[in-house]
Amino acid sequence: MSQRPRLESDAKPGCFSGFNLARLLRRKSSSDVDTCLRGGDTVGDQKSEVNELTGGAGRHRNLLPYGDGVDWATNFESPPSYCPPEYLLNDAKMPVLDAEIIKTIEAKLDGLDPQLRVLSLKIHDHPELAFKETYAHDIMTDFMEQHGFNVTRHYAGLDTAWRAEYTFGRGGRVLGVNSEMDALPGIGHACGHNLIAICGLGIAVAVKTALEVHRVPGKVVILGTPGEEGVGGKIILLERDAYKAMDVCLMAHPGPGPIGSSSNGTTSAAQSMYVEYSGKAAHAAAAPWEGKNALDAAVIAYSSISALRQQMKPDLRVHGIIEGSNWTANTIPDNARLTYIVRAPNKKDLADALERVKGCFWGAAASTGCKVKIEMHPAYYDLRQNSALGNEFARNVISRYDMTVNDVGSAASTDFGNVTYELPSLHPLFAIPTEINGGNHTPAFTKSAGTKEAHTATMKVTKGLALTGFRVLSDCNFFDEVKAAFEADKKARAAL
Ligand SMILES: [Zn+2]
Ligand SMILES: [Zn+2]
Repeated sequence: MSQRPRLESDAKPGCFSGFNLARLLRRKSSSDVDTCLRGGDTVGDQKSEVNELTGGAGRHRNLLPYGDGVDWATNFESPPSYCPPEYLLNDAKMPVLDAEIIKTIEAKLDGLDPQLRVLSLKIHDHPELAFKETYAHDIMTDFMEQHGFNVTRHYAGLDTAWRAEYTFGRGGRVLGVNSEMDALPGIGHACGHNLIAICGLGIAVAVKTALEVHRVPGKVVILGTPGEEGVGGKIILLERDAYKAMDVCLMAHPGPGPIGSSSNGTTSAAQSMYVEYSGKAAHAAAAPWEGKNALDAAVIAYSSISALRQQMKPDLRVHGIIEGSNWTANTIPDNARLTYIVRAPNKKDLADALERVKGCFWGAAASTGCKVKIEMHPAYYDLRQNSALGNEFARNVISRYDMTVNDVGSAASTDFGNVTYELPSLHPLFAIPTEINGGNHTPAFTKSAGTKEAHTATMKVTKGLALTGFRVLSDCNFFDEVKAAFEADKKARAAL
């Protein structure tokens, strides 16, 4: 994810609306072996109460204070957990899954912990850029094979994508998991994708073990998803039907924040724009009137966008750079390129913002007489966190791992947002210990992503997601809630 400076919040941090403890207590135990429907099927007259959608509500309710010298190690005030304090004081502390299933999943992950730590450090110490993650591809696919999965290397026509699956019994649902692998130019794993990588591996192997031990029919499919940083690997995989068979999909992402916290908040929708001005070269002193200055066009566009920014809503972001070839001070530049990213809280606001930004590019072309070409890659959508999955994850990590869960969003973006539009999905943003002002995409975060403390935080989240994923496979009623939450969100986003 690419991160941004702080945005002032216009909403008070608070609880997830509709979070209903009593309803959670009423849920039946999920230890029954699943005998009902798989994804896509409908369920008789079951009425699922579903909480108000929270994280993917269409606007950033509040954003994580970023930078500003916040010392997360000592700042325990914000943001609050969205579970009421009494939740931790009564018997709701007991999770819904059968105790033996929990024991199986936790014991498996405790056993895998040293191996996952080694893998994480290997990936951390061999940073690879988008679509060049060959080392990570190889060691992760070897790991999955060693743990009894059927592995497809170089999946879906992408050199560094991979897929691994395991099926127990017949029928049942399909749990999807994602592992990211790519790093950033010059600063290595400054987005902590080495932690995301092992989180996915851990979820998949732990759920496989629980399916076998407790004889629950179902399938686990994990995708190694390359090229998250700016090139949308998951969007390509979506286009190539890699997610088609999944009933839900899970992953998690590290970031700064209060120690022991995680967020089910949303992220921005984002659109990359590649703009090229073509002008006419001329001697800058002898005959400047013969030239058409592409650099001028780029500078005018840049300035126009800077002026536009002050009339934009505070949760929008527009940022970019200017580049050129063979520029010299005594020649009118005949070429200039700009790369911009426009971000907004949701797809609709993004579309509106894009029109205004395009106007700046066109205006600069008109004023300089240059030609302009605007190319756009597929957009990253905002995260539509599934509220049922989010509540279940929260219940698990709050009750068992002393974590807090909030709904504070981020102005950063992820290609997993597109996945959340297609199927019920969850992408918690969890905190790892960071230096002051050392958030994602800084060298300090690279260091943080390699620490033992970051690994410990990752393993807690991995356990919470594995428990959540297993419940999707083992509990028909819960899966109905997940589906209902997805449908409710579809309506919510259609109304935007
Ligand atoms: Zn990033
Ligand atoms: Zn990232």
